[in-house]
Amino acid sequence: MYLIVFDCDGTLADSQDNIMIGFTAAYRSVDLPVPSRDQILSTVGLTLNVAFEQLLGHSDPELIAKLVKGYQQVVWDMRSKGRDYDPLYDGALEALNALAEREDVLLGVATGKHSRGMKHLIGLHGLEGFFTTMQTADVAPSKPNPGMIFQAMSETGVDLENTIMIGDTTFDMQMARNAGVESIGVTWGYHSAKDVKNAGASYVIDHFNELIPVLSKHFSWNKEAA
Ligand SMILES: [Mg+2]
Repeated sequence: MYLIVFDCDGTLADSQDNIMIGFTAAYRSVDLPVPSRDQILSTVGLTLNVAFEQLLGHSDPELIAKLVKGYQQVVWDMRSKGRDYDPLYDGALEALNALAEREDVLLGVATGKHSRGMKHLIGLHGLEGFFTTMQTADVAPSKPNPGMIFQAMSETGVDLENTIMIGDTTFDMQMARNAGVESIGVTWGYHSAKDVKNAGASYVIDHFNELIPVLSKHFSWNKEAA
């Protein structure tokens, strides 16, 4: 059995518009200047409180709790009004469908999102039933801690060699490295090809249609079929 773990924001779904709205509201709620778009997007993938700590440059639990609350309030408000549609990237659904058809593949998610947000996105795009294991901010430590990958492997019973992590940020690549699994960096998200490569990506791809060929090569799927 193979376990393919996907990051969500910046890998499966383009969530940047909603993320920018959330961060902007958070900073305004505490009367602090809003960081630049690049600064904010560079933290996507981290669990929210860790992202705020990185942006602030120091730990201030009371302020961070307020920022998290400010973010969540506006995001939950948009969600309740149906205004938080995060589109899937081109080719994502096709790749997920093709992988889900294989009987020797299990799919997982490892994301800094809360399970509530992840389930909402799954519902929006009809992805129910695709992911056997879901590692979210509320059940696992923030990337790059390897906890999400270890929990995903333990829940599915798949070993290190047959597990691979797919993500758009250095945090995903570092998490994979910390867990001892290979990784595929994608360049359509929020960190550059150079950054994911330097963070230890085993492979780097520029479009979803490269994913299955890379997986087939890595796991020697073509040889099995031949
Ligand atoms: Mg990401």
